[in-house]
Amino acid sequence: MKTETTIHGLTASLHAARQARKTIGFVPTMGNLHQGHLNLVREARKLCDVVVVSIFVNPIQFGPNEDYDSYPRTLDQDSQLLAEEGCDIIFAPSVEQMYGSQPRLTNISVGQITNDLCGAQRPGHFDGVAVVVTKLFNIVQPHFAFFGQKDYQQLAVIKTMVRDLNMPIEIIGVPIARAEDGLALSSRNGYLSAEHRQIAPVIYQSLKTAETNLKQGQALTEVLAEIKSTLSDAGFVVDYVEARNPMLQAVEQFDQDIVLFVAAKIGSTRLIDNLQISH
Ligand code: AMP
Repeated sequence: MKTETTIHGLTASLHAARQARKTIGFVPTMGNLHQGHLNLVREARKLCDVVVVSIFVNPIQFGPNEDYDSYPRTLDQDSQLLAEEGCDIIFAPSVEQMYGSQPRLTNISVGQITNDLCGAQRPGHFDGVAVVVTKLFNIVQPHFAFFGQKDYQQLAVIKTMVRDLNMPIEIIGVPIARAEDGLALSSRNGYLSAEHRQIAPVIYQSLKTAETNLKQGQALTEVLAEIKSTLSDAGFVVDYVEARNPMLQAVEQFDQDIVLFVAAKIGSTRLIDNLQISH
């Protein structure tokens, strides 16, 4: 396994693979890897000849009061895990390498779906994601790219962008990896105190209860209100609890496949989760 920190180095490393027409699989991450990330790498390993994983904490997708500075950076540990998982190349560029010294004038906005849910809470976040993912796609030029359903809205934004702009890349969504108690794995779980870590699985439990209640015929608005009150009672400050169809359009009732979305803070840690429910 090689680690490249420059665009030039990465291009040189991939040259032989491209010449040999090998398929290149790409997994973009911000590092501090856990089993959720490693599942993406495993899928890439299954489908592609060469697997590239990027580790880059992207400053432009963080808001001014968010955790960019404190975001965990654990490259040595990540490298160890990726070597065990059979990754071929780590791309770990600096901010200067990715953004250079000239001001960036180009933005990528994927429209309405980026203003909803997390986009409503985090203005500019999905523009920052769209820009960095496009830059990484142009640098790596993969055939396949792998994204987690944990960030369902992000996956939808990337799929939409790739479709709208004819990017020649197949996007593969990978299911959410969870801890045994149901908590969706996230690098941000490391921020949780022992007490908050005990409470955190209530998010997934409330989603599973909601699924049961919907399937038993309870009205969607009631089910959403119950998730909110369960979370508030457990000590969360709820950002949103919403239902959408799989294309992220509004739904009034459970008369089609839906996705339930939660974003909630426990202490200062913001957690997100979602559950796809088939009709
Ligand atoms: P991040 O490092 O948080 O930017 O995540 C990098 C990729 O890993 C994104 O595509 C995420 O959706 C995915 N990912 C993060 N956590 C999970 C998880 N628990 N299950 C599945 N995918 C995940």
